[in-house]
Parts: sequence; structure tokens; C-alpha cells
Amino acid sequence: MSDLSIRALSKAFGGVRAVNEVSFEVKRGEFLAMIGPNGAGKSTCFNMINGQLAPDSGSIWFEQKNLTGLAPREIWRLGVGRTFQVASTFGSMTVGENVQMALLSHANEIYRYWRPAAAMHRERALALLDQVGMREAADRPSRELAYGDVKRVELAIALANDPRLLLMDEPTAGMAPRERNDLIALVKRLVVEQGISVLFTEHSMDVVFAFADRIIVLARGRLIADGNAAEIRDHPQVREVYFGTGKTFARAAGAAS
Ligand code: ADP
Ligand code: MG
Repeated sequence: MSDLSIRALSKAFGGVRAVNEVSFEVKRGEFLAMIGPNGAGKSTCFNMINGQLAPDSGSIWFEQKNLTGLAPREIWRLGVGRTFQVASTFGSMTVGENVQMALLSHANEIYRYWRPAAAMHRERALALLDQVGMREAADRPSRELAYGDVKRVELAIALANDPRLLLMDEPTAGMAPRERNDLIALVKRLVVEQGISVLFTEHSMDVVFAFADRIIVLARGRLIADGNAAEIRDHPQVREVYFGTGKTFARAAGAAS
């Protein structure tokens, strides 16, 4: 069953066709990587799906509902979450308080006339922190966290809204290779254990090939390939876009790192 269906989505900025007639599906419980060179249109795609940007044409369907043109808040309420960079108040609270705040704002949204007390969220916050391996840090000031741990807490905050589909545009930006691998492995585990669908972008091919169930490739606004790791690795047009003809992913990956 398809969870998210993107149909002939297009967006231009002036003369630049940032996203050009792109169609793809994310199945329920699927961990789908979107890759492509800088400027390929990945973030533009994400921002149309989460409602930040209105498409010029095409449509976006989630669980048979048409999301096209809905506001970010409505899309989020329908079960499509995304990771945010932490807010400026993040450092002034403990790790646990930050997750409780996210739970509180979710509850306020859902139960307008019955607002559970903040204390009620403590246990749920601890459970979410446990899922991302940060329970021990619940009472530490967030400002003391290492960068990789902030990313884990961002993930716990995104999960506070109980998304059925999670959008993650460059969740590992700025992380060291080892940390990237660990964060994506963690997300993959959540996908498997909780049946959440995830659409993510990631620059490290090693990480993408190791963890993605399926990979779609954008280049200059167009979707040029859709397949599993082996199919993408051997795809002539993908190799051309990334490395020029003749090179293989293995050689290029070795040369790049
Ligand atoms: P990616 O995330 O794959 O690196 P983007 O979606 O950010 O690519 O960008 C796709 C193209 O659209 C690029 O040529 C970029 O310069 C252009 N673009 C993206 N956002 C805007 C914007 N707000 N205004 C003008 N051009 C934009
Ligand atoms: Mg981008």
C-alpha cells in the first residue's frame, strides 16, 4: 500500500525548473532515500510535501488525502512530521523539558479543550528519549549536548507528534561520518520497529546504500532513477550525473572520502 504519492510535481523559480514533473511513491514502513547533486531540487521537493512551498502543478497524496495546497500545520496534523533545527530556546531547557514542550504543543493542538498537565508528559518524554538513546541525558541542560546528541533530541521532538511519515532533509548535515551512520541506523530501526515511513536525503552514499530500502535520484529537477541499491549503483544515468561516464560508485566513493 502506498502511503505518499507524488504526482507530476513541478516548481520553478524564475527560469529555473527546480522540480520538473517529479512522480514517486513512499510505501508504508519504507525507508526511502532521495539523492542527487546540489541544486537537484531535493529541498524544493521536501518543502512542497511539508506545505512550506506551493507547487506550480502536480499533486501530493497521503493516505488517500490530497495534501496539495494545505498549510504546513494541517499537513503535520494529518500525520506528516519533519525534523526541525532546534529552536533558540533549546539551550535554556533540559533535554527532557524540550521533549515535554513538543508533547505539550502537540496535545494543545489535538485536544483543544482538554489540556493535559505538563507533568503528564514527563513519562512519554522519557520514553521518546529512550527510543533515541538519550534517556540518561533527560535532566542535563541541552546546551551541554554534543552536536550528534542534539540531532538525536531533534528526532525525539519530531516523534513527539506521532508522525506516520517523517520527512528528513539532510538530518546528518554537519556530522562526522561515524555519527551519520549511527543516526541513520537509529532512524532505520525506528522505521522497522514502529512502521513509520521515512523520506530522507543524505550525502554519504555509503550510508544510503547501507540503510535505504529504496533510492530515488533527482538531477536538475527531474527524477532519473528509482530502485534498490544495486540498481542505483549500476544505473548509467546516475553514474553519469555523479561521476561522469566510466567510473563506478565504489571507485568514486573511495576517492571522495
Ligand atoms: P537541493 O536541495 O537538491 O540541493 P534545491 O531544491 O535547494 O536543491 O534547489 C533546486 C534549484 O532551485 C537550485 O537551482 C536552487 O538554486 C533553486 N532554488 C531553490 N530555492 C529557491 C528559492 N527560494 N528561490 C530561487 N531559487 C531557488
Ligand atoms: Mg537541499
